[in-house]
Amino acid sequence: MIVSGAQGQAQNLPKQLHDAHASFIEPALTLRRFKHRDLMPLIEKIRTNPRFEVTLAGKSLEERDIYLIKAGTGKTKILLWSQMHGDEATATMAIMDIFRFLAATNDGFDALRTSILANTTLYFVPMLNPDGAERWQRRTAHDIDMNRDALRLQAPESVILKGLQQSLKPEFGFNLHDQGTRYSAGHTPNLATISFLATAYDYARSMNAVRERSTKLIVGMNRALQSLIPNQVGRYSDEHEPRAFGDNIQKWGTSLVLIESGGYRNDPEKQYIRKLNFVAILTGLNAIAGGSYTKEKTGEYNNIPQNERFHFDLLIRNATMRLKGKKYTVDIGINQEEVHTDSTASTFVIKSKVEDLGDLSVFYGIEELDATGLEVVTEAGRAKAIKLGEAGTFGLRKDKETHYTIQNGRVKAANK
Ligand SMILES: [Zn+2]
Repeated sequence: MIVSGAQGQAQNLPKQLHDAHASFIEPALTLRRFKHRDLMPLIEKIRTNPRFEVTLAGKSLEERDIYLIKAGTGKTKILLWSQMHGDEATATMAIMDIFRFLAATNDGFDALRTSILANTTLYFVPMLNPDGAERWQRRTAHDIDMNRDALRLQAPESVILKGLQQSLKPEFGFNLHDQGTRYSAGHTPNLATISFLATAYDYARSMNAVRERSTKLIVGMNRALQSLIPNQVGRYSDEHEPRAFGDNIQKWGTSLVLIESGGYRNDPEKQYIRKLNFVAILTGLNAIAGGSYTKEKTGEYNNIPQNERFHFDLLIRNATMRLKGKKYTVDIGINQEEVHTDSTASTFVIKSKVEDLGDLSVFYGIEELDATGLEVVTEAGRAKAIKLGEAGTFGLRKDKETHYTIQNGRVKAANK
């Protein structure tokens, strides 16, 4: 396999990285809910590799170590941090894979690796909010949302991030998050599996040279992902949030790219989305290393469809509901939420809920079922009126025969 670095045919790079990702996966991380104690042995291993420099960036409120991992010797500095929200772990997994990628050799990717390491200096902070990760919650140990703390800096983790940005003065920043799994890429049946944002540094959403670089970088990363997941990339709202880190870091002079990992069908642990992060981030680093992002057109950023909310986890179309002897046609939108079953938030159950009812023809389901001619019944087979907010558990029947049972928001074909 021949893989080009910055100067070569970058159009094949996304597919090559996608196909090779399996050989770089950090095998210790296979589920989203890993903790700080799971990450520490991996960082200790990185410390022994001369390609990396590991230093303590600071400690969380509960005194968990937060590390800064440096690689490369180039003049363009790039700061990448993940999991400032404790329950948004997808990019942390991808970063650990990128470390294995950067540590490897003789695999066809040496030109790319050398270009990145010679032209940029990378500073990674994986799991910026370890106390939140411990509880699998967005906020820090004292319930501060770090992304509303960029001005007041009350969380020690916020002080660390701002300190790094101010002392390193990186040209680029990657702010790595997870968004909800039901965002749509525009008003379409496609999920926004990955969303990008070139954060706005003021309410007018002005464009300056710093923000323009963010949009150009995103245009290239979007093209890379479109080749793998066509039409499943979204653009996050650029409404200015004066308290957020992304907006302020853009204002402080670092071209900031926000990457949000969303949902992908049949990928509850986000392992495919982890792969997409790996591809997108390395594609972005390559574009910075070789300068190819400068040739992108800012205007194309606005062609990425906006994040919208048009998806349910399950949408049942055209069901018949019988109320007081009369028949009505309804669509039923059901969502699923993870509810924790232990205090460490390591295990969870899925709880379903009827979110909407009626004419839902403008919406989509990640799963859909056409229930034309089928009547909503109880599990015992009697006519049933569904109420908003109840669990998604009922039967769908025709001519006294149950065709489907919906169990906690999942469709099961009935045994005939
Ligand atoms: Zn977030």
